[in-house]
Amino acid sequence: MIIGIIGGGASGMAAALAAAEQENIQVLLFERQARVGRKLLATGNGRCNLTNLGACGNDYFGEQPGFVNTALERYDVTKTLQWFENLGLYTVAEENGRVYPYSDQANSVVDVLRFALEKPNIQVLTGCEVMKVKFCDPGFSVITAEETFFCHKLIVAAGGLAGSKLGGSLSGYKLLQKLGHRCTPLRPSLVQIRSDWPQCVSLKGVRANCRVAISCNDTLFAASRGEIQFTEHGVSGPVIFEISRDVCRAKGNWVCTLDLLPDIADYTDRLIPMLQRKRDTDLAAEDLFTGILHNRLGRVVVKEAGISLHAPIRQLEDWELEKACRTAKALRIPLTEPMGMDAAQVTAGGIETAEFDEKTMESKLVPGLYACGEVLDIDGACGGFNLQWAWSSGRCAGHAAGKEQL
Ligand SMILES: Cc1cc2nc3c(=O)[nH]c(=O)nc-3n(C[C@H](O)[C@H](O)[C@H](O)COP(=O)(O)OP(=O)(O)OC[C@H]3O[C@@H](n4cnc5c(N)ncnc54)[C@H](O)[C@@H]3O)c2cc1C
Repeated sequence: MIIGIIGGGASGMAAALAAAEQENIQVLLFERQARVGRKLLATGNGRCNLTNLGACGNDYFGEQPGFVNTALERYDVTKTLQWFENLGLYTVAEENGRVYPYSDQANSVVDVLRFALEKPNIQVLTGCEVMKVKFCDPGFSVITAEETFFCHKLIVAAGGLAGSKLGGSLSGYKLLQKLGHRCTPLRPSLVQIRSDWPQCVSLKGVRANCRVAISCNDTLFAASRGEIQFTEHGVSGPVIFEISRDVCRAKGNWVCTLDLLPDIADYTDRLIPMLQRKRDTDLAAEDLFTGILHNRLGRVVVKEAGISLHAPIRQLEDWELEKACRTAKALRIPLTEPMGMDAAQVTAGGIETAEFDEKTMESKLVPGLYACGEVLDIDGACGGFNLQWAWSSGRCAGHAAGKEQL
């Protein structure tokens, strides 16, 4: 039996290997880019956060988030790590549960997958974009620019629209829509949020561990603690990524308030006396928070507190020191909108899961058609959850397609 797989990304490679484990299976893996796993190389800032020890159904979103449960139970994190171990990948988990290759290089993950694909019953066709698919009942014609292939079963693992420079496209959605499936609205998730706050430019590249509260029209929308990163366009970092899925969707006055001193509950205790001691020096206000906050961030806080950067600290009144501390505890940054699909790590929305069997990933509309990974209306939280979904759903689809012989 020939199984065609569209997409040589995370879920497509997982599907190909699972299908090829079974007898009398020939896999054709179509990848439109010059090599497989291109997006994987960019994941986790080049380190590939391939899963999370805590991954479970609660970490996923979509119209039917419960759709993930069966695949995640069947191919859970332990089995996924065992699978990678068998492929020769040594992994290591960080304290927060994020798992990376021990080499700290995403290409280790791609390499072990690439080597595993070198099997007589898997044919990897790179530089081969699938333009059209026709259901022949039974089987499918898979049409590329050069050739038409026949396969008995077809798995669409073409990914989402996010990260378009790395291969994200509408292709998978369109192919599945042509076969009768519906797609929910697509939007970027795990993405930076834009701000027109002028200080962003001077803070570009600065990271801070803080408590973050997001509000809309002064009503709290989300709160979290973690690392935030300033970019020239706005704010980024894991905490921002987490809320980017839903933030700024409704019109309103969206504000991100940062507590830059999250471990200092009472600043009058140690911090104010420390600032007061700086009055014995010739330092200017621009150095008020030197030794306490990132220097550039400290200067921004002083400015936002309405204190001139050139004012000698010896001349600052107690109320001004308190105001500076209050500002550091509640720095307000206006938010405008999340950045686009180019910058996003994952697509929220996708092909409706209600039209697929959650045990096999098979279409309920077209027999022999399967879908897995990001093309489906499932997106995960930040921290290895999206790749876990790609491995679990990919293996589920590959295994089911290979098992159910015609
Ligand atoms: C910058 C960045 C960093 C990320 N970091 C992480 C991370 O650390 N941890 C994590 O869990 N997730 C991360 N993600 C998300 C994760 O990479 C994706 O969710 C995951 O790769 C989705 O797997 P997939 O197989 O569905 O799609 P993809 O991996 O995108 O693979 C789809 C493949 O299909 C190919 N294709 C598409 N259409 C066709 C066609 N018509 N014919 C032939 N081939 C086609 C594409 O070229 C692509 O190679 C990151 C994403 C980005 C963009």
